[in-house]
Amino acid sequence: MTKGSTDTKKYKFKAEISQLLDILVHSLYTNRDIFVRELISNGSDALDKVRFAEIRGEKIVDSELPYEINITLDKDQKKFIIADTGIGMTKDELIANIGTIAHSGSSEFIKKMTEQNQEGPELIGKFGVGFYSVFMAGKEVALTTRSYLPEEKACQWQSDGTGSFTISTVENIPRGTKIEVSLRDDATKFAETTIIENVIKKYSNFVPFPIKINGKQVNTISAIWREPKSSVTDEQYKEFFKFITNSSEDPISHLHLKADVPIQFSALLYMPKTNLEMYGFAPREIGVNLFVKRVLIQEHCEDILPQYLRFLRGVVDSEDLPLNISRETLQENSEIIRIKNVLVKKILTHLTELAESNHETYLEFWKEFGRIFKEGYMDFQNRDKFAELLRFNSSKMEKSDDLTSLRDYVSRMTTDQKEIYYLSGTSRDVIEQNPHLEIFKKKNIEVLYLYEPIDEFVLSGLENYSEKKLKSVDQVDPSTLTSDEKEEETKDEDVAINERDLGDLCTRIKNILGDQVTEVKISKRLTDSPAVLINPDGTMSTQMQKIFQTINQDIKITPKIMEINPKNELIQNLLTIYKQDPTDEFLTRSVNNLYYSIVILDGYLPDVHKMVSGMQDLLKESSSLYSSKNSDVK
Ligand code: ADP
Repeated sequence: MTKGSTDTKKYKFKAEISQLLDILVHSLYTNRDIFVRELISNGSDALDKVRFAEIRGEKIVDSELPYEINITLDKDQKKFIIADTGIGMTKDELIANIGTIAHSGSSEFIKKMTEQNQEGPELIGKFGVGFYSVFMAGKEVALTTRSYLPEEKACQWQSDGTGSFTISTVENIPRGTKIEVSLRDDATKFAETTIIENVIKKYSNFVPFPIKINGKQVNTISAIWREPKSSVTDEQYKEFFKFITNSSEDPISHLHLKADVPIQFSALLYMPKTNLEMYGFAPREIGVNLFVKRVLIQEHCEDILPQYLRFLRGVVDSEDLPLNISRETLQENSEIIRIKNVLVKKILTHLTELAESNHETYLEFWKEFGRIFKEGYMDFQNRDKFAELLRFNSSKMEKSDDLTSLRDYVSRMTTDQKEIYYLSGTSRDVIEQNPHLEIFKKKNIEVLYLYEPIDEFVLSGLENYSEKKLKSVDQVDPSTLTSDEKEEETKDEDVAINERDLGDLCTRIKNILGDQVTEVKISKRLTDSPAVLINPDGTMSTQMQKIFQTINQDIKITPKIMEINPKNELIQNLLTIYKQDPTDEFLTRSVNNLYYSIVILDGYLPDVHKMVSGMQDLLKESSSLYSSKNSDVK
């Protein structure tokens, strides 16, 4: 270990890190070689950062040092040493980064590690706890580092991975970070050149800086995104994806493009198989890094893609942007805006082609990333392409995971159908119980089923598709629906018998319910249910109102129209009672309870106390009627 240490101070690991180290130190994972990848990747990040600082014109310690990673292997001493000439760390950074501050993902990581023993090393890369993986192979680790900042002193961190670490100041160290690993007796193979060489070929071949083992360079540095498509093999594409995502999964597909006019850039973008964001493993950030002439300028570049395409992983490399562009000026740079516009169009075309050529793969993408993709409903520039890519379940699908495009929906429409209909609910079962659906079922009109809150924003945001209005079924006037005339006539006849009485009953119901409803009328949309609530013209759909209400609880639900179904036995009974005595108490109770029940069906909870006592009163009354009827019989 490095000599010349003064002022050694002992620190305790943060509890979470101690726990993590405990798992790693006692690990018997077969692919412990991942620690090599993690240390190289940290070295490469540190080199990117110092190169960037140099481009920005900052003063840098040891500026003559080449940007590289040197690995020294010593079989006799059982040592693995890796040194980079990167940005290094100040003492404060060292304490913060390696030991005391737990990364946001680390407790989740520990949980997963204990649950899924086998996948342990695979998870390390996903959670950003990479450095500690060194303890899978090392029994003692000394990290010496010197920051690129001229006024900072070099320091050394040392630990055996159990409970604590020490930090001391050291002298005469070149810029960068050196990690000296004393290998565990069962891990001495990591001092063998062929083993490390293979690990580098497997995981780190695309590191954009030379990696040397005992002085000899082992990686081939190539920015494959700049190569012509014809010279990159499928295997190389996959390897590069695994490299940038630190995973062993293949991507679903990739898009490699080179634009020359009016702007010059290359891009290599991948669609991963798994949406880590959905599982809470990854933050909501853009997965694409921006390079300028092969130099990494910004990771997770927010200005290069819109948020709804953040699931893509990869690189964009511009020829025209200045190397020393800052985050602030990047935002307003017209070049970047143009690159973004071209990229979005190309990506949407790529997805369209995928949907057309490989339905199964497209659905795989949709199930994983559809939720994020739908956030793009505000991208008015690309509205048409975006709409083509949407998928929904519908009444014409057999199961809840069968999906249709809007285009296919339209192709199934009869010529008389002028609008596209949808209905929201938490599941297929819930939607299919909704009384609003009855008339659509009867008339055999397809309805899109929307299961996610964002879906209504998407469809009401689009407004139209293929010149057809997109409409929530609870806002549809049933007389505008294509109808089977014969059926309509018989219905009218039925209704005609009671028309006046029914009208009076409606007035009485409105009277009982007061301001809770705006109007009570005879329904033309119900076939089975006794009653339903309708949103008056010009108001939002129920689902939208509910979403707004969750955002702001002061927003009141607008009173609705109540429609009653004269074909329903309950309504017919109420009519009979009404005709005998319009002020009958039982009628009043029944109407109130009927109202509560349709409010619930509409997705709201009415005043629970009023509802329960109303229900119990009604039960009391009907049970006493029933018991007296029975005793009469006896
Ligand atoms: P991650 O790299 O995913 O952030 P690590 O545990 O591997 O997680 O590293 C923690 C932090 O320590 C890094 O984010 C970085 O700031 C710092 N670090 C690690 N290795 C180096 C290095 N070789 N040079 C400079 N800083 C480093």
